[in-house]
Amino acid sequence: MSLDDKRGKGLSFTQMGIEDNNMRNGRGLSDQWADTVVVRPRTTDRNITVHKKLVLGFAISILTLIIVTAIAVLLSVSFEDCTVAESSLRAGNGSSTKPNQSQGGNPNHKDEDTQPWRHHRLPTSLRPRHYDLKLSVYMDNFTFSGEVNIEFECVNSTKFIVLHTDRLEVEKVVVYSDNKKPGVMRIHRQFHYPSNQVYVIALHREMKPQRTYKVNITFEAQIENELLGFFRSSYVLNGEKRYLAVTQFSPTHARKAFPCFDEPIYKATFRISLKHEATYLSLSNMPVENSITDDDGWVTNYFSRTPRMSTYYLAWTVCNFTYKEALTDSGVLIRLYARPNAISSGSGDYALQITKRLLQFYEDYFKVKYSLPKLDLLAVPKHPYAAMENWGLSVFVEQKILLDPEVSSFSYQMELTMVVVHEICHQWFGDLVTPVWWEDVWLKEGFAHFFEYVGTDFLFPKWNMEKQRFLTDVLHEVMLLDGLASSHPISQEVYEATDIDRVFDWIAYKKGAALIRMLANVMGQSVFQRGLNDYLMTHMYGNAARDDLWNKLSEAMQREGKDINIKEVMDRWTLQMGYPVVTISKNESLDNAVTVTQEHFVYDMDAKIRDPELFNRSFLWHIPLTVAVGNSTHISPEAIIWVSNKTETHKVGQMDEETWLLGNINQMGYFRVNYDLHNWRLLMEQLMNNHAVISIGNRAGLIDDVFNLARAGFLPQNVPLQMICYLPQEKEFLPWHASSRALYQLDKLLDRTEDYSLFSDYVLKQVAPKYHKLGWPTTSPDGSFMQSAYQAEELQREVIMLACSFGNKHCHRQAVSLISDWISSNKNRIPPNVRDIVYCTGVSLMDEDVWEFIWMKFHSSTAISEKKVLLEALTCSDNSFLLNRLLNLSLTSDLVPDQDVIDVIIGVGRNPHGRHLAWRYFRDKWDTLNARYGEALFMISKLISGVTEFLNTEAELSELKDFIQTSSGGGAVAAFARAVEMVEANVKWHRLYERQFYQWLRKSPNG
Ligand SMILES: [Zn+2]
Repeated sequence: MSLDDKRGKGLSFTQMGIEDNNMRNGRGLSDQWADTVVVRPRTTDRNITVHKKLVLGFAISILTLIIVTAIAVLLSVSFEDCTVAESSLRAGNGSSTKPNQSQGGNPNHKDEDTQPWRHHRLPTSLRPRHYDLKLSVYMDNFTFSGEVNIEFECVNSTKFIVLHTDRLEVEKVVVYSDNKKPGVMRIHRQFHYPSNQVYVIALHREMKPQRTYKVNITFEAQIENELLGFFRSSYVLNGEKRYLAVTQFSPTHARKAFPCFDEPIYKATFRISLKHEATYLSLSNMPVENSITDDDGWVTNYFSRTPRMSTYYLAWTVCNFTYKEALTDSGVLIRLYARPNAISSGSGDYALQITKRLLQFYEDYFKVKYSLPKLDLLAVPKHPYAAMENWGLSVFVEQKILLDPEVSSFSYQMELTMVVVHEICHQWFGDLVTPVWWEDVWLKEGFAHFFEYVGTDFLFPKWNMEKQRFLTDVLHEVMLLDGLASSHPISQEVYEATDIDRVFDWIAYKKGAALIRMLANVMGQSVFQRGLNDYLMTHMYGNAARDDLWNKLSEAMQREGKDINIKEVMDRWTLQMGYPVVTISKNESLDNAVTVTQEHFVYDMDAKIRDPELFNRSFLWHIPLTVAVGNSTHISPEAIIWVSNKTETHKVGQMDEETWLLGNINQMGYFRVNYDLHNWRLLMEQLMNNHAVISIGNRAGLIDDVFNLARAGFLPQNVPLQMICYLPQEKEFLPWHASSRALYQLDKLLDRTEDYSLFSDYVLKQVAPKYHKLGWPTTSPDGSFMQSAYQAEELQREVIMLACSFGNKHCHRQAVSLISDWISSNKNRIPPNVRDIVYCTGVSLMDEDVWEFIWMKFHSSTAISEKKVLLEALTCSDNSFLLNRLLNLSLTSDLVPDQDVIDVIIGVGRNPHGRHLAWRYFRDKWDTLNARYGEALFMISKLISGVTEFLNTEAELSELKDFIQTSSGGGAVAAFARAVEMVEANVKWHRLYERQFYQWLRKSPNG
């Protein structure tokens, strides 16, 4: 599943006439916090409770042990044959074969026997084998009726069939006994238990172990106008509204479409049939095996039986789409389905072609064939996520799969490419081998996110994604989030349905990817690849937990004669939250040696004090540290030093007074590096004199580390500002990108301070030489993507964005003249790569007519990418009447797709003139927003970060706290907890460092 990952977008400007001497302050783009999601809170309360529970639990467990031992002796004979099957079914705690200790609810066996529906997890007594699912879909009144026939095996004797259902109207239930005694079993009673979303069928007599039974259920439900389960959406074709219905089952919504064992461990085979009017077509995971048309114009499609799979990967759609297709060399038929006008204009061609190449790439890389005969890609107008990797029928929101070359920017193409690469990777990591339980969702999401970079490098080697872009977009981004005291371990306990949504956050995706990249680098590419192959081959069509992966990777290392216990290393990184800052300094008493220390990096040290229960224990990691020593012209080759203790001494190469130390070469590791001030000074001199001695990745890494170390109080505030003085000489995109990300973070803190112009002038001074040198893109591209020029184009764009955001007059005039030309000629000659910057600048600086013009273009544009850019530009206005109108129209009309409404509110909040408006609007409409998006927790969390991250005064902090106290947070409690920590850190930064920061700028010769 791809979460919506917006990169470097969303300009906004303070208002001011173009000739105003005060000149405008530009505002933050790439906003790391806004795109991040929920972090599980670790409050004192919770941990004290946990602690008490542990003590109590220990006492009870001793007592229980005595009782259970006695009972077990009595019962051992009858339970014996069931134990193996049961334990292999249960989830997690790192291994697919260990009994599950994280099973939700009360682990009281008696209760499980008498009222198994009261548990958050399904009882383990039954195991589904096969489903026959028949659905009739009525698009005229948006309802469907269904009949499911589930064949299941009894593992432990039980009278109860407990199945997930949600919002389904169950009509009739029949249970058939096993084939030894065929017949209908009498039902004692049946009922919904809504709090656990289950339907319970209690039988008169018990089902027996190792026998199979069948349950047949008929039901009805609505095709809701929302984003989950089996839902509908619409689009306009030739002035006429058309409807389609599609599914989104991950993580817990298959139960909204049919009664099922809706947990990933319950893999089964499925045979699906869909009946609908013949004017529609239908698709599902498998190809149509047989199709029957009735006299009344209804058609029934019978799809082939699926392989064993989890319920949340099932999918179907009923729509009027058309398609284009391609065939891979190994015979897999790929079809891209979309609105007929998108298909005929060729908007789907790009995604179709890269998908074909990617299937072959993954087959070669994993040495495992794609498992199904076909793969359909479906472009839908409305979807809660960027995309969903349903096996054989992956669903994408249109903006992440349709591309119009003549109007799409490079960054749009890049995002789209990465979403496709991500979803195709899931066909192996996810669909074929599925995590046992949601606590290890990073096992699929971390891999898919990591492979976004590897797979894109395969498609476009010159983009250098894995070596470069990964650093800013993944590593730097997630270290911001994981440096909060309210972060959580990547493998987190999951009990209830609301917990499940929480695990889909950037920690799972980005930290997962960063850890996998670090591990792949330590193992070496080919050994890593062999380990993955073994893992996939062993667990295909089944489930796996993290320990299964560690075992396979350790075995691959052992075969190479390298004895590293990967589980021992990786448990430190996956079971502890956060990451270390490693401090490297020259050892004064030992020649050519360094002292290395590690400590847990947290932005706000006070947060540690507020939660002593959690932070009293020492956080230590097994760190694969690479260190190089260098001087003005040369850098030593580096080797891996394993650092496991708090302080260690290690020998490195020759050193003297003028040699500097550099740690974490090419930023392969997931940690920050700090040095003494003398070493920082030497590194800065090196950057000023000859930055090429230090690799591009390390230059970007130094910038990110230095800004964040200063933000957290590890370094004086002037050190990062001094470091970026070398930027005018920097010709590479990545260090610029790292700098601008760090500067926009600072901008958020500073943009309402009195001395703000000291900061913006300082930034402009570093940017201006490069801006004037690179200029603006002049010719509009001919529609073909020039991959060789990518770095140059991206650099140019980055510098223009900085210049326009921080108020460079030339940049503003250029944007205004491009907009004026468009309005007067009615011909858009603005190069796609800078359209977002130009539109936003124009809307912010020019009068209301420009806003109306962009609003009109938003309505008339049919190109998906262009529509989105136009919509975002509307949030840049300084006119609160227009902003208010935009907010209201977005939420109450269907002019703006549901998933984009959130971005509109965040965009208004990012605009200094809309900040209070968005914050107030968010609070006023919270009930509506929470009702609409609350279940798609990722979206509501993104919204919460988006409207709160700019708050940085004591008064705003209390507004936030008051709001949280008086409103129901629902599933978003964790997002609010994190928002509070962020705003507290902002307030604290002002208290402690603002003066120091401006003092240096006032005195700086470069300021
Ligand atoms: Zn995914």
